[in-house]
Amino acid sequence: MALNVAALPPEHVPVLQGWIFMVHHSVKCSVSPHCKYGQRCATTRELLVHQAGCANAACGTESCVQLRQIMEHFAQCASTECVLCAPIRFQVQKSRSTSLTRRRISAGARLA
Ligand SMILES: [Zn+2]
Ligand SMILES: [Zn+2]
Ligand SMILES: [Zn+2]
Repeated sequence: MALNVAALPPEHVPVLQGWIFMVHHSVKCSVSPHCKYGQRCATTRELLVHQAGCANAACGTESCVQLRQIMEHFAQCASTECVLCAPIRFQVQKSRSTSLTRRRISAGARLA
């Protein structure tokens, strides 16, 4: 089931944004749970490890299904006006867009 962002209660939006942010942090975090996010980082990592081996769309782990929906939406969402993704996309995709820009610049240089 896809995530319907328009139907999200406004108070859920910051919670889900926190999840997206934590996922992007904890996949790179090498000092978990001793980083500044502490147990929250560790919990997110545990969930990611579980999810990597879980293909069950109706998984009994409540957060598993929920997180999958959120991350699937975030990966596919291209809207700059999305209430969920737009405010944090810049934050979590900074490094990716930088390398994209660099690639585009070098491609342009070759053409010139
Ligand atoms: Zn961490
Ligand atoms: Zn699961
Ligand atoms: Zn979105």
